[in-house]
Amino acid sequence: MSDPPILKEPWELDVMREAGRIAAEALAQAIAAVRPGVSTLDVDRIAEGRIRARGAKPTFQGYPPHAGRYAFRHSICASVNEEIVHGVPSADRVLNEGDIFSIDIGATYKGYVGDMAVTVGVGRISAEAQRLVETTRESLEAAIAVMRAGARLSEVGATIEAYARRRGYSVVRNYCGHGVGRDMHEPPQVPNYFDPSFRLHDVVLKPGLVLAIEPMLCQGSEKTRTRPDRWTVVTADGKLSAHFEHTVAVTEEGPRVLTLP
Ligand code: MG
Repeated sequence: MSDPPILKEPWELDVMREAGRIAAEALAQAIAAVRPGVSTLDVDRIAEGRIRARGAKPTFQGYPPHAGRYAFRHSICASVNEEIVHGVPSADRVLNEGDIFSIDIGATYKGYVGDMAVTVGVGRISAEAQRLVETTRESLEAAIAVMRAGARLSEVGATIEAYARRRGYSVVRNYCGHGVGRDMHEPPQVPNYFDPSFRLHDVVLKPGLVLAIEPMLCQGSEKTRTRPDRWTVVTADGKLSAHFEHTVAVTEEGPRVLTLP
């Protein structure tokens, strides 16, 4: 959290709003295709088609730069059940009734990034899975509500953690939200939890600051591990995890969610 945040001009926020709208529309089309029997690669192709049709680029393709054959090659991260984030779309990964499916998507438009994620149920899902998904979405909404000018960054994570814990869930600590703009990952990092040491380098939220807020909640332990594919992050205990994300700007008028249709 050492580098200062990059504040955006109002015109930049308008471009980011367009990038966010494209991401949201592509995600909506992808979600509409989700049902038992569909592969995560099918969903990826639909998302990519919509992003490119709008004159934007899939942000995740080729990330990180200079990683060569180790770079991510897809337009969405497709994480099923115990997979938390960074799942790699595959024709072999077919969705089943009762799965929960996290789709993370990024669209780059006129050089600016919109980054968002949702978790959806495949067909009918269990009441326990539904509760996890709803709580994760609500924790994101609660976090966005505190993003007013003058608030502190640590309040965002504290809000998510408190919301999750009240309902018996843990919060992933190894991965976090981030500043976003011309780059998908800009300072500051946005932990989804609170640690008293954060106060030492806390950031005051100012108009023009844009953050990707992305709580990842777990049914069991927050401990993670990474699969041998080097990308897919899963819960160490194999229990379910859900993920929601929006790109949100701090403005004089309050938080502005940029990743809406
Ligand atoms: Mg993100």
